[in-house]
Amino acid sequence: MMKRLVVSKKCVKCKKCRKVCPFELKIWKGRGGEFADPACIKCGRCAAVCKKKAIALVNDGDQ
Ligand code: SF4
Ligand code: SF4
Repeated sequence: MMKRLVVSKKCVKCKKCRKVCPFELKIWKGRGGEFADPACIKCGRCAAVCKKKAIALVNDGDQ
């Protein structure tokens, strides 16, 4: 099952997600929509660290 990274407007661009991302991706750029980057392996580290709970890993087809 493919997963997608959905970033809500709760994101305050604190950039903590980037610090834990193995590829230092700028997840907040997907704020208000989806963060889609070919380098992303959907590991969920960014979602786990986000204090605003702004990042969700959703199954393709949901949401
Ligand atoms: S950790 Fe959460 S609030 Fe901070 S920039 Fe990343 S998505 Fe936005
Ligand atoms: S899911 Fe993993 S690889 Fe993708 S942006 Fe988040 S921390 Fe980076």
